[in-house]
Amino acid sequence: MSNANASTKPAPYRLAARTDAHQATIVDLGSVKIGGGQPVVMAGPCSVESESQLLNTAYAVAEAGAHMLRGGAFKPRTSPYAFRGLGEAGLKILAKARAETGLPIITEALNTADLDLVAEYTDVIQIGARNMQNFALLEAAGRTGRPVMVKRGPAGTIEEWLLAAEYVLATGNPNVILCERGIRTFENATRNTLDLNAVAMAKHRSHLPVIVDPSHGTGKWYLVAPLALAGLAVGGDGLMIEVHHDPDHASSDGPQSLNHEHFADLMEKINQQYAQPVAREVGLN
Ligand code: PEP
Ligand code: MN
Repeated sequence: MSNANASTKPAPYRLAARTDAHQATIVDLGSVKIGGGQPVVMAGPCSVESESQLLNTAYAVAEAGAHMLRGGAFKPRTSPYAFRGLGEAGLKILAKARAETGLPIITEALNTADLDLVAEYTDVIQIGARNMQNFALLEAAGRTGRPVMVKRGPAGTIEEWLLAAEYVLATGNPNVILCERGIRTFENATRNTLDLNAVAMAKHRSHLPVIVDPSHGTGKWYLVAPLALAGLAVGGDGLMIEVHHDPDHASSDGPQSLNHEHFADLMEKINQQYAQPVAREVGLN
């Protein structure tokens, strides 16, 4: 920070803080580099429902130009009676989709008991919003050695979110990704309020890559594309987008899921704007 008004107090998240000595982190998955200058799009259904469902959408998002495949095998649900995922069977389906499409996968680990199993299958471990301050889970995820994406809790401050990332970094695992997925506010026209301030602020304060999730951030499929583009415009390093072949019949999060056609339209818009490497640090200093 070069502004004369800058505070000199060191950040409490010493490993996550952006300093002159520690510029942007790139999480390298081989074919995909998160934070590497080009937006990385992680796309797929909220939940893995069946092999045919996941493969159908995996091929569709791959063809549209997505870089990674998402899908939940262990699902955090508000109601215990809702669909809670296929568990290990879902992980096996994700691994099959990766083998067929070549897309690296990201999936959530809900608790420490499932962590080794999830780490065995996935390329990136997702820590869900509801677990942002599950410190035992953050540390255990860090210790697997897999890259970890930490979603911001619905009531987490930016500092708390960066301190959650710090828990993973403090295990010696440098491959941490932040994800803004909306916070709970007074507004109820949307499911959450996608906090684009937080995307710009996280990039300003931290060297970690930031992914923007407009699906959970809005809860409305027809708001996903504009907020996805906005998320990249404010400095996001990529997107997490829920996609379903038949959103009206999805087992979870159908109202916020793009169908295959709408996802392809969004990818076309992103590719038009970001086809060439661009300076991703615009306006941050
Ligand atoms: C998800 O990615 O499907 C999910 C459950 O997200 P969040 O933890 O942000 O609610
Ligand atoms: Mn979801």
